[in-house]
Amino acid sequence: MNWTQALARLFALFGFILIVWTTSDQIFNLAVPAPASIHAKEITQSVKGPNTPALNIPSQPSEEDDLFANFSSRWPAEAIYLEGVRICIDPGHGGQAHRLNFKRGPTGFREAVANLRVSLFLRDLLQKAGARVTLTRDRDVDLSLAKRAQIANETSELFLSIHHNASSNPSRNYTSVWYHADLEHRPAAIDLGSHILTSLINHLGLSPTPLLSTGLLSDYLIYPGKGFGVLRHLRIPGVLSESSFHSNPEEEKRLANLQYNKREAWGLFLGLVSYVAEGRPKAKLLRADRKQAVFSIDDGLIARGGWGSKPVRLFHSLTRVESQRPDGTWIPTPFRIDLKTARLICLFSEDIHPRPNRLRITIVNMHKHHNFPRIFELDP
Ligand SMILES: [Zn+2]
Repeated sequence: MNWTQALARLFALFGFILIVWTTSDQIFNLAVPAPASIHAKEITQSVKGPNTPALNIPSQPSEEDDLFANFSSRWPAEAIYLEGVRICIDPGHGGQAHRLNFKRGPTGFREAVANLRVSLFLRDLLQKAGARVTLTRDRDVDLSLAKRAQIANETSELFLSIHHNASSNPSRNYTSVWYHADLEHRPAAIDLGSHILTSLINHLGLSPTPLLSTGLLSDYLIYPGKGFGVLRHLRIPGVLSESSFHSNPEEEKRLANLQYNKREAWGLFLGLVSYVAEGRPKAKLLRADRKQAVFSIDDGLIARGGWGSKPVRLFHSLTRVESQRPDGTWIPTPFRIDLKTARLICLFSEDIHPRPNRLRITIVNMHKHHNFPRIFELDP
């Protein structure tokens, strides 16, 4: 071989090494990294309280932890749809280590600690996907329920409060996700809750219980007519997860394991991914006069472009427009919908359908996701 051939082979070899090096780097990046920002020391400290037996929380996964390790081998391609989405994560409770037997498992492990750990892992996953995350708390402190909702309302477009459940029956252990009031209150929260519930069940593997027909439940079942304070004060779509029961001795042991907390965070993360991936429809008021109000309508998918993205994929048959009467009730209002131009036109007439102060628009996309916001104020 002459020297030009040798040089060509040398370049080919160098190129091959370069390809292997960059590819292997990408392969390793696919695995979900351990969140760098979770402070094992801080978490271990907050587990201990005057009434809590010291728990040995491993900061590094042991061999036994492999039981929980094989859950996140593939980063979901659809996580790109979380880019720029503003999400508020609320780790339930906190700052109550001094309270005797307050929200603790049978050996004293605190719910507030499990809530915080799962939330920190979830934050790191969401941030890796490009979401803009706000935590209501990032350490062992308490906040009022109204304050938590206020933080969410001021910063975010989606809300998730993370809790673990308790029962006087130690064998009880199931997954539930809670929405505020009834189905009509904020349908987008039902959509979100449904994705989160399915993903949590898939990842924690707790069997559905004959006690419940579904784990997606209204907070009115606990506090009739009032619901949970944190959800009641919310003005954006949000739900509260009770992923499992810390009062169950086996589950308490699992909740004390960081790898298991990570698995739960991964389940919540994939629930959020699949929710945003299926699109969040939006109606927007363009103009209103005495005779009509014109809205643009978006299925939450059209901006992605691609095959079949036009016209907007919204159910004509599930579209609803309602006017609010002075007594607060809602009555159906005539409308036209033009999917080609992505416009919805509400029609008023002085005698039968006078122009209201508030309109409620409901649009539903191909994945049965509902729009938010739904209520629009018209200038008087
Ligand atoms: Zn709780």
